[in-house]
Amino acid sequence: MKTFGKNDPITIDDVLVETDKYIKKPENRQLILDAYEYAKEKHKNQVRKSGDPYIVHLLHVALTLSDLKVDPQTIAAGLLHDTIEDCDVDEDAFKEKFGDEIYHLVESVTKIGKLKFNDEKEYLASNHRKIFIAMASDVRVIMIKLADRLHNMRTLQFMSEEKQRKISQETLEVYAPIAHRLGISELKNELEDLSFRYLDNTKYKEIASLVEQKKAERDAHVSKMIDEISEELDSHDITYNIFGRSKHLYSIYKKMTVKHKRFAEIFDLLAIRIITDTEVSCYEILGYIHAKYKPIPGRFKDYIAMPKTNMYQSLHTTIVGEEGLIYEVQIRTKKMDDVAERGVAAHWRYKENQYQKDIQQKEIEEQLSWFKDFAKMSEDSDSDAKDMMNIISNDIFEANVYVMSPKGRVIALPQGSTPLDFAYRIHTDVGHQTVGAKVNNVLVPLNTKLKNGDVVNIMTNKNSTPSEDWLKIVKSGHAKQKIRSYFVKKKQKEKEEGIVKGKQLLEDELIKRGFDPKEYMNKKHVESICGNFNLHSEQDFYYAIYCKSVTLVQAVEKLTHQKTFHSLKDLSLKSLFNKKSKKNSNKQSSIIVGGMSGMKYSLSKCCSPVYGDEIVGYVTKNDGVKIHRKDCPNVSKMSNRLIEAKWDEDLSKNEQFIANIEIISTNRNYLLSDIVTVASQNKISIDGVNSQVSDDKRNVTTIMKVVVKNTDHLKAFMTNLRKIENVLDVKRLTM
Ligand code: MN
Repeated sequence: MKTFGKNDPITIDDVLVETDKYIKKPENRQLILDAYEYAKEKHKNQVRKSGDPYIVHLLHVALTLSDLKVDPQTIAAGLLHDTIEDCDVDEDAFKEKFGDEIYHLVESVTKIGKLKFNDEKEYLASNHRKIFIAMASDVRVIMIKLADRLHNMRTLQFMSEEKQRKISQETLEVYAPIAHRLGISELKNELEDLSFRYLDNTKYKEIASLVEQKKAERDAHVSKMIDEISEELDSHDITYNIFGRSKHLYSIYKKMTVKHKRFAEIFDLLAIRIITDTEVSCYEILGYIHAKYKPIPGRFKDYIAMPKTNMYQSLHTTIVGEEGLIYEVQIRTKKMDDVAERGVAAHWRYKENQYQKDIQQKEIEEQLSWFKDFAKMSEDSDSDAKDMMNIISNDIFEANVYVMSPKGRVIALPQGSTPLDFAYRIHTDVGHQTVGAKVNNVLVPLNTKLKNGDVVNIMTNKNSTPSEDWLKIVKSGHAKQKIRSYFVKKKQKEKEEGIVKGKQLLEDELIKRGFDPKEYMNKKHVESICGNFNLHSEQDFYYAIYCKSVTLVQAVEKLTHQKTFHSLKDLSLKSLFNKKSKKNSNKQSSIIVGGMSGMKYSLSKCCSPVYGDEIVGYVTKNDGVKIHRKDCPNVSKMSNRLIEAKWDEDLSKNEQFIANIEIISTNRNYLLSDIVTVASQNKISIDGVNSQVSDDKRNVTTIMKVVVKNTDHLKAFMTNLRKIENVLDVKRLTM
């Protein structure tokens, strides 16, 4: 983009030279001229800090936009973008002259400029968020804002030092990444280099001079290599164009600081680009180059088959040249090169007669999945701006693992993402209901790190819910935020229910002790005693009762100012029963499924595994992972969806398990009583018994459901059962 380097006082004619190349309809040309005259008139008394008339800034914005081949409305809006803010403009008159569409564009650009921030800290996080939201409504707003920012950066030398820093910081953190994600790389590079110059001038100068020093030497190597490659390609019938390319300064700086490389290491890489006419030719040229030069393993990237999320396509390879020097070679078609430089602007270049902005916006949103995240942000009110910033920086700017759904949809995730990140990216509900995952058709633990090209298939169960352990597994801010918000909501709901239950408990207790709840359970009275328990509200008090951090006895004593005595009645059978059943249902994590603890599972009823049994998991379609005994006859029928499972010894040793046993004996009196006695001697509790006498009345079959600690416990019990008189056989049942 040749015009991006210019910073001269230009005229409307310079802009028209560019727009005339692709905007031919007289009414469109007139629109641009009208916008120019209007802006010139409105800004007539204003000058820029540089001393230039204000209109020069607007012409530069229009020129940059015309180079991106945007539609005439956007060029006009570019010329008008400062009129609403800086000049006295009547909304209705403006709309009548330029229409609602242009008004909306200008208004959106103005809104972004007007964002005010209370302090430095809020500034960064919420500034970014607000800018993204404001821009998400129409991609053309982003283009105008980027063109505006580019010219402001080019004229930053006229600003105070403080402003230079602040504006450069924002450019580097917000605008350059946006330009990158839109694929407008030349604009991004210039924004980065300009920001770098103001933010770390010493380093900037140092790198610039190092680059300059080595330039002649590098150019010589590159042109020699170009000659060699050309000679090779000329011997085949293929169209191509080859040239050397240079890295921009900020990218060198970033590699030096982020990847801790020395300048020499980065700069030893010599870069060459080859442009050809078709996709097939790209691969053909790659073949010739790899046949002649040794490629460095692991450095070949096929972004043609697997485009980046900003639509970038190209083949990348790194080869060793004649003198042992390393060359980076990029091979792509002319169209791909255009997209590489101008991104969305190249893809949806304005064509008169066949341009519809709604379709363009929709296509962009579809192509750039991150763009949808921008649009969604405005609705997410329960997360604060800082969370948003994390999501943006992790998911959107750092996306670099590309995986696929079984239907071939490509999803970009941050490096180190897991199937859970993938699930949450598909849909929040899919994430919440995940019970297992297959990667490339193989069942894997949910903490598996995904690699480029993995095909991920998520198994869900609509009754399943997230586990808090997932927060340690997921990588993307998006998934983290969804899981966190699930638990925040869940805890809120539990608290609300706890308050209601606590209140009921207290009411029952007061009645039981002969007090009138109405007299004691009013807000004012309750809050007057809250201080005794270090609590602050009526709600907290009831909740504390529910959680038993305040006992009913304490509560009643304080409320009624009367001493009561802790009676045995407080430990009613019912509460014992509740305690027990709670313990039983709370055994969720004592099995490690697929190498991971915290995964949702249930013990299968058909074979009722007991701690100590050899076990295996089976991933059901709709009901999570079912744990079976390895010798369960049903297991052999489910070979392809099995997942490894083992007991977590620390947790399992405190658990209790159900086992079903069958006792066959001859018929006699008091048999059941003897069985119960043996059970109690073995500290086995019986959950259910069913005895049946055979038709000939000679034998009895007794089926028992018992609660045991582990297989040893169960085996000892069975051995003792066999010792009972008349018992013929004792065995464990599978149903
Ligand atoms: Mn401006």
